[in-house]
Amino acid sequence: MPDYSDAVSRKRLMALAGGKLLHAYIFEGARGTDKMRAAETFAKTVHCLGETPKPCGICLSCVKAEHGNHEDILYLTRDGNSIGVKQVEELQIRLRGKPFASERVIAVIDEAERMTPQSQNKLLKTLEEPSGGNIIILLTSNSALLLKTIQSRCAVLRLGAVGAAPAGDFAELAAAFYAKLTAGGAYYELYKLVGAAAERDASSDFLDALEIRLRDALVSGLGAGRQEYPSHDDILRFADCVEDARRGVNGGLNVKYAFKTMILNMTTDTKAKP
Ligand SMILES: [Zn+2]
Repeated sequence: MPDYSDAVSRKRLMALAGGKLLHAYIFEGARGTDKMRAAETFAKTVHCLGETPKPCGICLSCVKAEHGNHEDILYLTRDGNSIGVKQVEELQIRLRGKPFASERVIAVIDEAERMTPQSQNKLLKTLEEPSGGNIIILLTSNSALLLKTIQSRCAVLRLGAVGAAPAGDFAELAAAFYAKLTAGGAYYELYKLVGAAAERDASSDFLDALEIRLRDALVSGLGAGRQEYPSHDDILRFADCVEDARRGVNGGLNVKYAFKTMILNMTTDTKAKP
């Protein structure tokens, strides 16, 4: 059983952000998380024929995706209570064929946990021997409900809830922090913002929320950067700073000091790194 706590690891972030596409993803998020919108944006970005930043929103591909009639974006939803073997077989037939209007077919399976075990075993064949550059995205509120063999073949991406999250004020705080950071907020403003989280010794909840916010930013900006700043590299660098802070706190470093260092590293050296 692979360790899914590493869903947030830099490697996975890189795979998503670096434009290196994988064959299979799980987008996981609690009910209320807009996983479908994330998948739609992802598919649209991959298929976009326009100039960067993608998705351009005006090319033929984007327009078709927007109207839900892109030939090479498929959606599989449950029939009754479950997603049956026959449905998976039909999808596989389509995936074996050539894409109609692009380089690859992207299949989005909503409520993937509704696949029966037989359906999942059927799908596994496709995940084991993916054809062409096709991409399968499984949406689920809980990836643990999927067969382990399925889980192990997908990159898992946990998405944060839109708006109010279970993490409560930390999701909001993380969003506010991210907004200020990317608006070029100064060190002392940022520190003032998170000071409360540091004082309440809720640092790990806040860092979790911040990581989720960074991942969401990566997904929504996937494919060569929606805007120049923050670029994918910037966001990855922020994620590194968060991981450093977490390591520091876990290793017994004073929380305030760890937060200060994190913010300093985030706000300086923006040209970054080789
Ligand atoms: Zn486009």
